[in-house]
Order: sequence, then C-alpha cells, then structure tokens
Amino acid sequence: MTNNYDLIIVGGGIMATSLAYNLYKDGYTGKIALFEKDSKYEYSSTPRSEGGIRQTFSTEVNIRMSQYSYQVYKQFEEEMAVDGEKAHIDFHENGYLYLLDKKSKPIFDDILKVQSSLGVKTKLMDQMETQSFFPELNVEDLEGSVFDPEAGNADPYSVLQAYIRKTKILGATFHYEEITSILTERGKVTGVQTINGDKYLAPVVVNAAGPWSGELSAKIGIEIPVKPLKRQLFSIDTQQKFQNEIPFTFDPTGLHFRGERSKIVVGWANEVPYGYDFKLDKQFFEEEIWPILAGRSSHFEQLKLESGWTGLYDYNYADHNAIISGHPEMGGYYIITGFSGHGFQHAPAAGKALSELIRLGRFETIDISPLSVERFKTNNLVVETAVY
Ligand SMILES: Cc1cc2nc3c(=O)[nH]c(=O)nc-3n(C[C@H](O)[C@H](O)[C@H](O)COP(=O)(O)OP(=O)(O)OC[C@H]3O[C@@H](n4cnc5c(N)ncnc54)[C@H](O)[C@@H]3O)c2cc1C
Repeated sequence: MTNNYDLIIVGGGIMATSLAYNLYKDGYTGKIALFEKDSKYEYSSTPRSEGGIRQTFSTEVNIRMSQYSYQVYKQFEEEMAVDGEKAHIDFHENGYLYLLDKKSKPIFDDILKVQSSLGVKTKLMDQMETQSFFPELNVEDLEGSVFDPEAGNADPYSVLQAYIRKTKILGATFHYEEITSILTERGKVTGVQTINGDKYLAPVVVNAAGPWSGELSAKIGIEIPVKPLKRQLFSIDTQQKFQNEIPFTFDPTGLHFRGERSKIVVGWANEVPYGYDFKLDKQFFEEEIWPILAGRSSHFEQLKLESGWTGLYDYNYADHNAIISGHPEMGGYYIITGFSGHGFQHAPAAGKALSELIRLGRFETIDISPLSVERFKTNNLVVETAVY
C-alpha cells in the first residue's frame, strides 16, 4: 500500500513543488509523491537560474502568467512563512531595461502595444532619457530604451527551498530516487519505476523533469520538443563603480548584465549544441562578451572575471514556450516543462494552472490553454519573441 499514490510527480524542482503546493493549497486531498534524482539539486535548473522576474513578454499568455506570478512573488515571503518565520527570497525590484537600436526599436514598438493593452507598466525612453537614467552607458548607437519597473530578481535557491518546505508540511512525500520509466497500460499511465526497480503506482503522473523531460517522455513513445541547452553566467567586478544599482539590462546584441550587491552578473544566450554540458567557457567571456561590454560602457573596460556558472534550460525548440497540459494520447499523463529560460518567474502561475487542470479539468485563474501540448500537432505554435 505504501507504494500507492494518487499523483506522482517526476522531478523535485520549482515546477514540481509549485504544482504540489498549489494542489494542496487549493484543497486536493490525494496522496502526492515527488521523485527527485538529485537530492542536493546540484545540476537542477532552478538553483542555477538567474532568478529574473519581469512582465515584458510578447504573448498574452506569458504576460498573464507574469502578472499572476509577480503578485505571488511580492508576498511570497509571508505566504511561505512557517511558524511565523518568513521565507526570505531576496526579491529586488530593480527593473528590466531594454536598450533599443534601429533594428530592435520597431520590434519593441509592436510588443509594447500588446503589453500596454494588458496593463503592463513599461516606460519608453528616448536616447537622452536613457542616458540620464543610466549615465555610464554609451548610448550613441541607441534609439532609446524600455524600462519595466515591476521586475527584478529573487534568489531561486531560497524560493525552491520555501516551496519544498511548505509542500512537505502540507503532506507530500519526497523520494530521492531516479525514475527510469513511466509505467503505462492500455493508453493510460499507471505509475513509475525507479532505478532500483521499485514500482510506485498512481493514476496520474506528471513529467516535471525540466531539461530531462523530453528524454523521459520519449521513453513512453511521447515526443515533446524539449532538449537541454547550456546557458552560462559570469560574475564580474569593475574597477570603476556604477552610481546606481544596475537593473537587468539587455543590450541589443542580446547580452545582458545586472547588479548583484557589489558584483555584476553577465550572460549571453550564445549558440551551443543541445546536451548535458556544464563546462564554463571563460574564453567565450574574454573573446565575445567582454568587447561588447566595454563598447557599452567604459566602466567595463577594466574588469575582473571573478567566477561563473552554467545551467541547463528546459528548451522548447519548437516555439520557446512552456508546455503545460495533459496528453491526449496517454490518460493521466501531464507535462509541465519547456520554459526555455522563463520558468523561474512563471512557476507560481504554472503550478496554479496545472493544479486547476488536474483537480477541475479546466483553468480558472489564467487560461493557459494555448500552452497545451496539442499545439504542436495542430501547428498553433505560441511564438514568444521576448525570450533570451
Ligand atoms: C543559467 C540559467 C538562468 C536562468 N535564468 C532565469 C531567469 O532569470 N528567469 C527565469 O524565469 N528563468 C530562468 N531560468 C530558467 C529556469 O531556471 C527554469 O525554467 C526552471 O528552473 C525549470 O524548473 P524545473 O522544475 O522544470 O526544472 P529543474 O529545476 O531542473 O527540476 C527538474 C528536476 O527533475 C529532476 N529529474 C530529472 N529527471 C528525473 C528522473 N528521471 N527521475 C527523478 N528526477 C528527475 C532533476 O534532477 C531536477 O531537479 C534560467 C535557467 C538557467 C539554466
């Protein structure tokens, strides 16, 4: 009997725990088990994330998910308190700043229309305004910028720990074991099997395996367009200090940088092959990133590369967007993956929405039906242009 559950989640990252938390919070009474193969979360995406939270997406579904999640993150420390002790997540609202050149300005003009129609409070600045907003920048090549004030970053590790703690208190069981296969019978899931050969039964199995989710799904013959994609972040220190805390700033090249206490974190989504690669490429920083930084501000000319880290995106190579739904060809099989670099910020909304779908068979809070797995078959892709 102990191996029987009502719902099994493969993965113990932010998607799995947000889902389990929301299920219990919203009244689910079944037995939930989460299976996590990496008990220290060494390679999981969540703790390796940069923790960026923004509203500035180009599609309605992503903007709505951002708006919901932003509200959750604003009061997350209180909501996740245990025995009166707040869950500290270090949420800094320093904003997101997008620097616009001749090429990117018209694209942003279109995105801004969608954003303002949905109530996103972005501020468009011309070249002069951008210069006075961020005095150390070289703005010569810029037309202006867009600032998203209701944005910033929080500490992903602390957020994950808060979800885990609450989820355990609410009654979920965590098994620190690898799932090697999802069990199926006549078009329905029946449970999972661990690397030790143990079987755990449940009529509902959720694939929340992040960058590993595509591979897991393929084992039961269900292909989803998700692959692991390496991303690198570098922590630097500059000799000349910037006047103000640097917001999450996006250069027109796609490179970004932001202040984190006395340091600056820099990243760039360069093209790399798919795969489970965690090697930090310092040469890439020196040869590709540093020249762009130095061109953007003379403050970056003399800098010290202090450290860096890599992590894997759960990358949806079809339309760079989340896949959150049941599967029409496999009863009881649900998927929550493919976030392509915006999963941390959307986790509160994603967990809430999938909880509703599982409990009620419909969405109540946000209609995320465009993110269903069926879109790949019907070719109704949700192409998000604002992903980095
Ligand atoms: C460098 C980097 C920067 C990022 N920056 C941002 C950002 O600024 N803002 C933002 O919103 N998002 C960002 N992201 C994306 C975000 O981190 C991810 O979308 C999100 O963490 C995905 O959560 P997850 O729970 O699906 O995946 P994970 O955290 O990877 O959790 C999945 C878990 O499943 C486990 N697992 C996998 N297979 C099995 C199995 N067979 N059996 C048992 N367990 C298994 C894994 O060990 C893992 O712990 C970033 C990601 C990276 C890598």
